[in-house]
Amino acid sequence: MTASTVITNIGSLVTNDPARVDPRSDPLGLVADAAVVIEGGRVAWTGPAADAPATDNRIDVGGRALLPGFVDSHAHLVFAGDRSAEFAARMSGRPYTAGGIRTTVAATRAASDAELSANVGRFVAEALRQGTTTVETKSGYGLTAADEARALRVARRHTDETTYLGAHVVPPEFEGDPDGYVALVTGEMLDACAPHARWIDVFCERGAFDGDQARAVLTAGVRRGLTPRVHANQLGHGPGVQLAVELRAASADHCTHLTDADVDALANSATAGGPGTVATLLPGAEFSTRAVYPDARRLLDAGVTVALSTDCNPGSSFTSSMPFCVAVAVRDMGMTPDEAVRAATDGGARALRRTDVGTVSVGARADLLLLEAPSHIHLAYRPGVPLTAAVWRGGRLLLDHQPPAQT
Ligand SMILES: [Zn+2]
Repeated sequence: MTASTVITNIGSLVTNDPARVDPRSDPLGLVADAAVVIEGGRVAWTGPAADAPATDNRIDVGGRALLPGFVDSHAHLVFAGDRSAEFAARMSGRPYTAGGIRTTVAATRAASDAELSANVGRFVAEALRQGTTTVETKSGYGLTAADEARALRVARRHTDETTYLGAHVVPPEFEGDPDGYVALVTGEMLDACAPHARWIDVFCERGAFDGDQARAVLTAGVRRGLTPRVHANQLGHGPGVQLAVELRAASADHCTHLTDADVDALANSATAGGPGTVATLLPGAEFSTRAVYPDARRLLDAGVTVALSTDCNPGSSFTSSMPFCVAVAVRDMGMTPDEAVRAATDGGARALRRTDVGTVSVGARADLLLLEAPSHIHLAYRPGVPLTAAVWRGGRLLLDHQPPAQT
């Protein structure tokens, strides 16, 4: 028999529970003075603390806020090297282009498996300390069949959410022959990578892969059982978002430069008879490249499902902090604190087509973030402040900076 534990005296509980959410007035399904019962790694009960059932153990969190662990659905963690000099140059006026990825490719190819795995482990731990309990990560800094497959094998040691991104940029040895590289990505490289990946992604952007090339990459992946997601419309208008919706991708990521037709396509994607295409916004990229932010307000008002993620990578967004992304989304992208927290939890789960994370509802994995604050609003209200008090994943207390009283 597994022991049950009640986490009680929760000042404010974010549930994202469809049974509690009111899309207009309460997008987070909040419960005040709440309790959560966990048993066997899952959420067994939620509700007002006064109504909580009897349990074996009791943790009193002293009026703090509890929310689902963050779901970071877009990151690039398998790499070696450092591009701080490039960042400094950019901050003194040089624009960001897709080409800097090649610097990381050279460093990643030269690194050992152990070095790459240690790096991924370090970033996953860093994210956990900031409340992230689910992380997606992509390949894309190997760009040979062997190096891409190796990146995914390394990633799989740390997460099940692995994405094959052989089509990140055309590597130097295929300079002038992008179609030759696409043939490799859709052929031998796909064969080597598909067993280690759940998703396939492509950087559909000027300077990377055009619409036809992106379509070839994604459809080849779909034939091998991978589900598409797309780096779309980051640096300018382009075909990425429309392609993502057409191919029923789980998400179109970045969405910084959108036409009305792009917004309509995303808004109507779920009604086309599937789970739809989430717009995953990555404010760390605009922050770190000093670019214009995506207009989250426009997407939300059109009825698009929005996720927030870090895009953690050494070139354009070297942050693993979901609280940072929440704060920027509220300050500069037109999101309310409720909408931003929802996008960073339930939104990320939807972008990964997961129903077991991003929510504190009965049956969900007990992935929980306790804040050193009375409300989730503090994530945006107190930018840059480490607010993690404790983190549970699968019901296990993994981090406990500010010990709650256990009795
Ligand atoms: Zn990315």
